[in-house]
Amino acid sequence: MKKRLSFSSLKAFSECEAEAVAVMNEEWDRQATFSPSTIEAMNAGSYVHKFFESEEALNEFKNEHASDMFTKKGSLKSQFQMAEKMVKTLDNDPLFKAIYQGSKELEIFGKIQELEFQGFLDCLNLERNIFIDIKTIRGSIGDKEWSEIEHRKVHWIEARKYLWQMAIYQELLRQSDDEKIGKNISPVIYAVTKETFPDSAGITLPQSWLDDAMVEVCEVTDKYIEVLNGRTPNRCEQCNYCKATKRNLKTISYSDLI
Ligand SMILES: [Zn+2]
Repeated sequence: MKKRLSFSSLKAFSECEAEAVAVMNEEWDRQATFSPSTIEAMNAGSYVHKFFESEEALNEFKNEHASDMFTKKGSLKSQFQMAEKMVKTLDNDPLFKAIYQGSKELEIFGKIQELEFQGFLDCLNLERNIFIDIKTIRGSIGDKEWSEIEHRKVHWIEARKYLWQMAIYQELLRQSDDEKIGKNISPVIYAVTKETFPDSAGITLPQSWLDDAMVEVCEVTDKYIEVLNGRTPNRCEQCNYCKATKRNLKTISYSDLI
């Protein structure tokens, strides 16, 4: 298991402890279970980030992904056509252009509940005391998604645990011993949509919600520490890993399924 956690590994652990631990122990390749369209969407999201990081980063990405970006006939794949539209939208967004300034792709480190954490900031703007995270999303900015934990639809920022991510990054920045970095830096989620006419918005988050998210993060890190100390990780019995490693030993009642 990893001694240093990231937001994505903690989120994975909260969804299925058994799968997350198997991934960390290199016993399960989660990436291999992703569909080609999911991978293409992830790469297209990276393209948007790289565009606004630097010309050098974008060129490096293009060289690395030339075979992923184009069809056999040489035209740009649909997800990358979408990525170019999203880039144009952000590039013409006066608020985005004004605030997406400062250090890009910055790695940060710190501790939460004695566990080492690391994070990547898309952009740290010290003049405005904010950090910005670009999110490329499928639906509209106000969309809600089904939450398996809540058993109801919640806004995508909540469903994807982005409040956790922003709370973790805020805490890691607070711990920085760089004197230029203040102690009260606020996150901005910059959303850009994959709609026919992409929409964009800079979204701030109430501090009390970030504080509540941090309490939840600490609850999950406590569980992670339990597993580090030898507790058997819980299985969700829903994910691909659990299905692939399931060993039926007794029947189940139909009444439990409905
Ligand atoms: Zn599972």
